[in-house]
Amino acid sequence: MRIDILTLFPASVDAMMNVSILGRAQERGYITIKTHQIRDYTTNKQMQVDDYPYGGGRGAVMQADPLYRCWAHVCEEAGSRGHTIYLSPCGRTFTQSVARELKDKYDHLILVCGHYEGIDQRFIDACVDEELSMGDFVLTGGEIPAMAVADAVCRMVPGVLPDAECFEEESHWDGLLEYPQYSRPAVWHDRAVPEILLSGDHAKVAAWRKKESYKRTMTRRPDLFAHFDETKLTTKAERKILAQAKEEFAAEQAETSTEPEE
Ligand code: SAM
Repeated sequence: MRIDILTLFPASVDAMMNVSILGRAQERGYITIKTHQIRDYTTNKQMQVDDYPYGGGRGAVMQADPLYRCWAHVCEEAGSRGHTIYLSPCGRTFTQSVARELKDKYDHLILVCGHYEGIDQRFIDACVDEELSMGDFVLTGGEIPAMAVADAVCRMVPGVLPDAECFEEESHWDGLLEYPQYSRPAVWHDRAVPEILLSGDHAKVAAWRKKESYKRTMTRRPDLFAHFDETKLTTKAERKILAQAKEEFAAEQAETSTEPEE
């Protein structure tokens, strides 16, 4: 997977992308993440990349030409027209399934970071394949969204994490939230780790984790749980775990609704 990030702040992006898991994965050649300074593609002495918006109004708009020249250079250098994404609050919402889709469909992504009031629509019309949003809020620039997309996509590339289990058992992989996690010590500030996790019985631990994952999703994200496809539970044991989770969830709900108000 190759990811090129077009930005006015390459140093900030490099600082995050070249360390830890993604840094090691780059050193080992599983992924390539390259940043490109859009300002280097200006043709004016001041290296100006933005100008006032036509029609008036506050702020500045990033001009199409430096963006285009930077984008064309990246495509030429890579020898392919990468799938080009503009990070924008007007895009479709980025989720784990969008990250999977990008990882499965493309081996070259170009991420375009806007700043100020955004970028000239004509660059979007000419070069952008899709717009992705981090959610219904506005940030000052596209760098944090671009890093989020690059990170979420790259950690699923084979070799980046020790094995696929590392991400396939996590929240949002199969429409559920992950179970609670614990580490040593077994008792901390009078709070003990659930006994079953100390039992060494792998089957029981797996069943407990699944049940807790169901319960957490029902409690915190009923919208997600509403889409959980129960028909994919093919064994009696799997259906029993879900039934137990529903029972415990209902009991906990009943308990909280009968608790006297303070
Ligand atoms: N004027 C734009 C609007 O109202 O839609 C917002 C521009 S924002 C201040 C500057 C840049 O930050 C955008 O061009 C985009 O690249 C990035 N950005 C801001 N919020 C974002 C979000 N929720 N998702 C993805 N990118 C975002």
